[in-house]
Amino acid sequence: MTVYRAAMAHVWLLLGITLAGVSATIATDMLYDHSIVPFALTALLLLWTNRRLGRFACPRCGSNLFVRERIALPWPNKVCSRCGLDLAREHG
Ligand SMILES: [Zn+2]
Repeated sequence: MTVYRAAMAHVWLLLGITLAGVSATIATDMLYDHSIVPFALTALLLLWTNRRLGRFACPRCGSNLFVRERIALPWPNKVCSRCGLDLAREHG
C-alpha cells in the first residue's frame, strides 16, 4: 500500500468515527437529555486514532502528507508539496 492510500484510509477512519460519534451523541441526547459521555468518548477516540498522523510522511524527504506550505489540511497530498514525489505510486 502506498503512503497516500494509507493516509486516505486514515481519513476515512476518522470520518467514520466522527459520523458514529455524532450519531451516538445525538441519540444519547434524545434518550437521556445529556450527551457528555459519548461526546467525550468520541473526542478521545479521535485524538487516540490521530496519534499515528506523523507516520504519513513522504518516503523521500519526510514531509508530512497532511501539510502543505506549513498549513495542515484534513486530506493528504497526492504529490509531495516539498520534493514533488508522486505519493500515489509505490516507491522502493
Ligand atoms: Zn517529499
